[in-house]
Amino acid sequence: MTRMPRPYTHPSPHAAIVPPYLLARIAATDDPRFGAASEAARRSLLRDAPLREWRRSGEVPSFIASEHPARPARDERPAALPGQAPAPDRRISDAGGLETLPGRIVRREGQPPTGDAAADDAYDGLGETFALFARVYGRDSIDDAGMPLEATVHFGDRYDNAFWDGERMVFGDGDGEVFRGFTESLSVIGHEVAHGVTERTAGLRYQGQSGALNEHVSDVFGALVEQYAMGQDAEAATWLIGEGVFTELVEGRAIRSMLEPGTAYDDDVLGRDPQPDHFDRYIETTDDNGGVHLNSGIPNRAFALAAVELGGFAWEHVGRIWYDVLTSGRLRANDGFHRFAAETARAARERFGRDSAEERAVAGGWSAVGIEVPRE
Ligand SMILES: [Zn+2]
Repeated sequence: MTRMPRPYTHPSPHAAIVPPYLLARIAATDDPRFGAASEAARRSLLRDAPLREWRRSGEVPSFIASEHPARPARDERPAALPGQAPAPDRRISDAGGLETLPGRIVRREGQPPTGDAAADDAYDGLGETFALFARVYGRDSIDDAGMPLEATVHFGDRYDNAFWDGERMVFGDGDGEVFRGFTESLSVIGHEVAHGVTERTAGLRYQGQSGALNEHVSDVFGALVEQYAMGQDAEAATWLIGEGVFTELVEGRAIRSMLEPGTAYDDDVLGRDPQPDHFDRYIETTDDNGGVHLNSGIPNRAFALAAVELGGFAWEHVGRIWYDVLTSGRLRANDGFHRFAAETARAARERFGRDSAEERAVAGGWSAVGIEVPRE
């Protein structure tokens, strides 16, 4: 069979959930408890390198390009009839420990559990993510046109990451010493799917401030998927991203904390969570696409503070406002924090009214992290 690169070209493929600086710390450790983790992190860094290069050059890495047979960019499924509630179309594949995509399909929509925890967790997590976007925001999948939700589990040998490749979510099993695997965390699944939504809406460029906003938007919907699935209000929510991905050997709760950036972990091997929680401490760096996983802490905290200030279910107010901004058509690919913040205040006014509690909470959240929004 002739294999060709995918017909849909992705302008900005996205980073994995575990940023390169964290894997580099694990790779560098000589702690004997983490021997396998260190080796796995080194291999994961090598695996992720083509993804980072892809973002810079636009050249699709061979392990992705060569494994996708040519196929229509859109699913052949007819669009939902008017008035018919959108339903997910999930397809879970198993890479069997190899680094080839997509792997063998093990579960399609409506099929019973496979008995494999990773496959079933991915299936369930994609269902929860679909439910938030469809029921709360009326969005029919990633492209709002019923795109299938595809995932591959058991990618690679103890691969320490999960990523969105522009078409599917890909999950490693983790090294078992630092990372337990990535399919159990609903916020990780929601985060990766949200990259697909951002790609098809605001298209925020994955570099510098717009890249940190891209990461931020994924954390927002990752957290909201988890809160929605658990019926948690803003006070009860943990605001953690990737809770449960670390083993008990790690001194840490999660990969990031939206409410308290910089506090997610503090560990001998991993070091201290480096995320800034205020614009005064914005990190200028060329690493990590200009610190996209670092500086996302600043808008993350603004969002979480606004949500807690308002109370109740975050997806109903701040989540709604952020979704409005994402889909407004007013954001530009290179927009930075100040312009994004101003758009959230505008969206709050348009949906909830001038000087509404929502507008004040959003402005207050941004102000607390050092970003003032114009009041109109
Ligand atoms: Zn991400």
